[in-house]
Amino acid sequence: MLKYIWILFTDKESLWCRWIHSNFLKKDNFWIASTPSTCSWAWKKILQLRTEFRSCFAWKIGNGFSVSLWHDQWLADGPLDLLFPTSIIELSGLLKHAVVADLFSPLDHAFKSSLQSCGFSVPDQTNAPDCFTWNQHSSGSFSVASAWDFIRTKKERVSWDSFIWNSDIVPRNQFNLWLITKNRLPTQEFLIHYGRIVSGTCAYCNATSDSIDHLFFNCRISATLAYFWATRCNLPWKSRPWMDNLAWAIRLLSALVVPALKNHLMKIVKDKATTFTSVPDTPRNRRLQRSWDLDPSIFTDRLKR
Ligand SMILES: [Zn+2]
Repeated sequence: MLKYIWILFTDKESLWCRWIHSNFLKKDNFWIASTPSTCSWAWKKILQLRTEFRSCFAWKIGNGFSVSLWHDQWLADGPLDLLFPTSIIELSGLLKHAVVADLFSPLDHAFKSSLQSCGFSVPDQTNAPDCFTWNQHSSGSFSVASAWDFIRTKKERVSWDSFIWNSDIVPRNQFNLWLITKNRLPTQEFLIHYGRIVSGTCAYCNATSDSIDHLFFNCRISATLAYFWATRCNLPWKSRPWMDNLAWAIRLLSALVVPALKNHLMKIVKDKATTFTSVPDTPRNRRLQRSWDLDPSIFTDRLKR
């Protein structure tokens, strides 16, 4: 919806803008136009946004002919109709539809001097066209991304964000790590808790229903695997709850260690690949060979050589 406000001021020749101006705004300024009793739901919503987002849109003054003197925001302090009571506006002698360019005419120059004497920084008039800006982004251009960043609730940065959203981890595993860390992985205990299933047992050990800690660390199968890989990588390992393991991993596997570990594992795989007697020449194996940069000779049956 915010994007429509942007379009309203920056794409005046579009069919939608012309329709809005001819049917609803007519000659009124958007920021003070009254809400019609009969209009679309969307137009009502756009008008409702004005109160909250008026200060997010501002004008950079060029020749001043496109900017409403009273109702648009062209001073850093805000629109003049919010800064001054109506009586001052009426006493100024300037029309309700005055534009900023009027300030620079010899007749209305006095009001410009009054603004400056009140401490307002009045920009100079230039020959360039006026520029409508979105002041929640350094470029001044509106984007849905910057609008979302502005309205979203911002919380404290978590300690694990750069560890999980690391480009060395494939996206599918990043997503799973995020689910696990947020305790949203649909394990059996999770599904039982939310009444989706009545009971369940771990598919590996059949001993108990699986949970995050059981599935990855406490189950005898996964514990053996974790210990095996930790030993291979010379990492001290002990079974702990997920969040403790995550804190341990963040501490131990810094940005330098993860790529080094990845390179180490790739070297192990490459070394191992050279000892294969034969690898089936399937599309999947070809893909793996290319992505791991393995020698294509692994597809040659070495027993026949
Ligand atoms: Zn198990």
